[in-house]
Amino acid sequence: MRLILLGAPGSGKGTQGDLIEKKFGFPKISAGDLLRKAVNDMTSIGKKAQHGMQKGELVKDHLIIELIKQRIQKNDCKDGYILDGFPRNLSQAYSLEKIDPGQKELAVDIQIHKRTVMKRLSSRYICSKCNHIYNINKEIRPSAEKKCEQCGGKLIQRKDDKPEVIKNRLAVYHQKTEPVINYYKKKGVYKAVNGESIPQVVFEQICSIINESNMEDNEVEAVS
Ligand code: AMP
Repeated sequence: MRLILLGAPGSGKGTQGDLIEKKFGFPKISAGDLLRKAVNDMTSIGKKAQHGMQKGELVKDHLIIELIKQRIQKNDCKDGYILDGFPRNLSQAYSLEKIDPGQKELAVDIQIHKRTVMKRLSSRYICSKCNHIYNINKEIRPSAEKKCEQCGGKLIQRKDDKPEVIKNRLAVYHQKTEPVINYYKKKGVYKAVNGESIPQVVFEQICSIINESNMEDNEVEAVS
């Protein structure tokens, strides 16, 4: 199964992706993490992506599509994977079909208010080593020493989690990513959850959706 996590920046796609990966065993692929690694490693893709990322704009499609393609082709993605932050526009959605056709799809939209986006992102910390996500206003609070409880890495605030860049990322989301929602609605694979609740409650909603979808598959198999 290809589980596509949709939602505005700060809606909790990364946090939910981690929880789903742990429970269901599918690898989580974060487009932002792939790009940040490429920037840190100063690869040719990273060098081309850096400028747009700093401003909160989408990087060119062919750059992120190449990274996603390389990742999806790895062996651990054969039975399924979770996508966080991809596709972010219609052309990426079409490319995804071509890269990996025939994969059963489920698109889960984590919905939150605009005001929540600003609040969450300005209080977010991530681990510079393993990308685990923390928030000073939540139960997943960073420790006083700002060290990751999973790997001991240093916790940092992302450069694009500044108010002016957040505003731009939200504008880009409305303009470019919202049409993707309609695309998955038309395909009949779209589900929405309320992302305002605490992570565990959102996670339970997503688990029910995944389990329901698996049950439907089993029923179809049993009939045919
Ligand atoms: P994220 O970690 O998902 O918030 O992504 C951080 C930044 O990486 C975004 O603001 C974009 O600049 C870039 N980015 C992430 N995913 C994509 C994508 N699918 N297409 C283009 N740019 C992306």
